[in-house]
Amino acid sequence: MKGSIVPDEDGSRSSKHVVNRRRPKHLLDGLLDLRLRRTLVLVLSCWSGAACVSSAHSKALEARRAPYVLVLGTAQDGGLPQIGCADALCRRARREPSFARCVTSLLVADPRSGARVLLDATPDVARQMEAATGHPPMRYQLATRDQPGARPALVDAVFLTHAHMGHYTGLAWFGREVYGARDLRVHATERMAAFLRANDPWRRMVDEGTLSLAGLEAPVEIGAELRIEALPVPHRDEFSDTVAFLVQGPSRRLLYLPDIDKWERWELSIEELLRTVDVALLDGTFFDGDELPGRDMDSIPHPFVSATLERFATLPAAERAKVVFTHLNHSNPLVDPDSAASRAVRAAGMAVARDGAIYEL
Ligand SMILES: [Zn+2]
Ligand SMILES: [Zn+2]
Repeated sequence: MKGSIVPDEDGSRSSKHVVNRRRPKHLLDGLLDLRLRRTLVLVLSCWSGAACVSSAHSKALEARRAPYVLVLGTAQDGGLPQIGCADALCRRARREPSFARCVTSLLVADPRSGARVLLDATPDVARQMEAATGHPPMRYQLATRDQPGARPALVDAVFLTHAHMGHYTGLAWFGREVYGARDLRVHATERMAAFLRANDPWRRMVDEGTLSLAGLEAPVEIGAELRIEALPVPHRDEFSDTVAFLVQGPSRRLLYLPDIDKWERWELSIEELLRTVDVALLDGTFFDGDELPGRDMDSIPHPFVSATLERFATLPAAERAKVVFTHLNHSNPLVDPDSAASRAVRAAGMAVARDGAIYEL
């Protein structure tokens, strides 16, 4: 069924992937009741060693029944720390793993069905999939190599915003050199799909059946009362066009908009859109124009957070409270919760995204 994702396994089948087949089966069958399996999920999550994200698995999460979004990353395409950067924020991120941030990405998880999808595939995807272990709780998909047949699907689908390196190159980890996925559904705009079809290594991944390209023209159902809709946004668009995603759950609606040139260049009004959602993860790449001395900021346009704060200053408090800045450049003082910039965002009634945060839908 094109345009919809129906989980092919129920939770009980998914949960068997935790069983290490090399051990005596009877022993594990006897011991691995549901509680122990869940404890194992927690242990595996903690053991992942991820620097920028750690799984937020908990009893509260197990009790969660509604679909939700797990924030897998909040940094601009280069992550934090950024390669070769000796600035104070990057040095601190190297020293303190909890200060590091993965590249912007979200997981949409549905505990009712076990479905889960990835919004953007980043160069940090390996660590991010570790952090996604146990989301949703009945699905954690750690497969051993001696299990026969194809490896289980890590995610039901990937939705791509655009062809900048932080947002799609993570697809490579699903290829034959690493996970060896089969028919991984990738939702992309026509132009983005054409880019993948025309350029190696993505072309080969499509030809060999690793990736299965699907559209974004219509909203995509990923479960009961759970769907994802793409909104075109203006961005530099050298290789593909760019979209934001609206994630509609049974009771809440989330906007994921990591990259846009400037609010003024968009045919939609961000304020009007804000009125229709409950949470808005918005482009917060740069706090202001002084961040990259020696670099022409006009050649990498994003709405400065300082300008967005000003623009939203007259909105009602309830509207401002929906705003969460993400896609933070390594130079952005918002990566430090104690910076003056972070205090200014909080004083304005808005927030800065954190890796590992959860938003119910
Ligand atoms: Zn980006
Ligand atoms: Zn971009």
